[in-house]
Amino acid sequence: MIQNELGTFVSNKIKAFNLEFCRMLNVKIFQFNPLQENTYLVYDNQKNCLIFDPGCYFDNERDVLVDFILKNGLLPVQLWNTHCHLDHVFGNKFIHEEYGLFLHIHEGEKKVLDRAPESGLMWNIPFDNYNGPINSITAETSFDFGGEKVQILETPGHSPASISFYFPDSGFVIAGDVLFRESVGRTDLPGANPDTLVKSILEKLYTLPDETVVYSGHGMPTTIGHEKRYNPFVKG
Ligand SMILES: [Zn+2]
Ligand SMILES: [Zn+2]
Repeated sequence: MIQNELGTFVSNKIKAFNLEFCRMLNVKIFQFNPLQENTYLVYDNQKNCLIFDPGCYFDNERDVLVDFILKNGLLPVQLWNTHCHLDHVFGNKFIHEEYGLFLHIHEGEKKVLDRAPESGLMWNIPFDNYNGPINSITAETSFDFGGEKVQILETPGHSPASISFYFPDSGFVIAGDVLFRESVGRTDLPGANPDTLVKSILEKLYTLPDETVVYSGHGMPTTIGHEKRYNPFVKG
């Protein structure tokens, strides 16, 4: 009996440690460019680092990003865009040149990426588009990072092939412009569809655990539970 209790105690300790280890991913948020876009770095305890939606536009914003990576001894290993609206892709070329990373996107966002410089001219924020190799995905998939299986969810509607990155062990999702704190992504841009957006939110995001933290492309983080209760556009 004592043996059993000790055994259970030890195995619970190990489970707790493993859980703690899995929760070692760090999320750093930067707010960049005139459209106040959120750029995310996710890094593990080995200092490997994923870069999502580098929106750095001005030189000082690029410096801030590079300084953070340098000061924390991070090694950028992958570059991803949730979708390719201009405010999320400004820094792709810079990241490629600085760290030698290739861009990862959903295949369906390629045309949005190609159009981005044109939008830049319209908004009076011209920029040089990324022109390196593109690694594209065509369906939901997953990859390992920091001992965690990161799930890529297809969440179109705001953009034709927007994707969200769900980190189930750490309990957060990087959702781009699909879902915001008490708001949702706009659907008046080319390739957007309001019904598709609502479907993505209901079927892909609101089905995640309530405590899941949502890191959006603009504004403050929120949780799935908060949005299901308080989001005025899509009720859970
Ligand atoms: Zn967008
Ligand atoms: Zn945006």
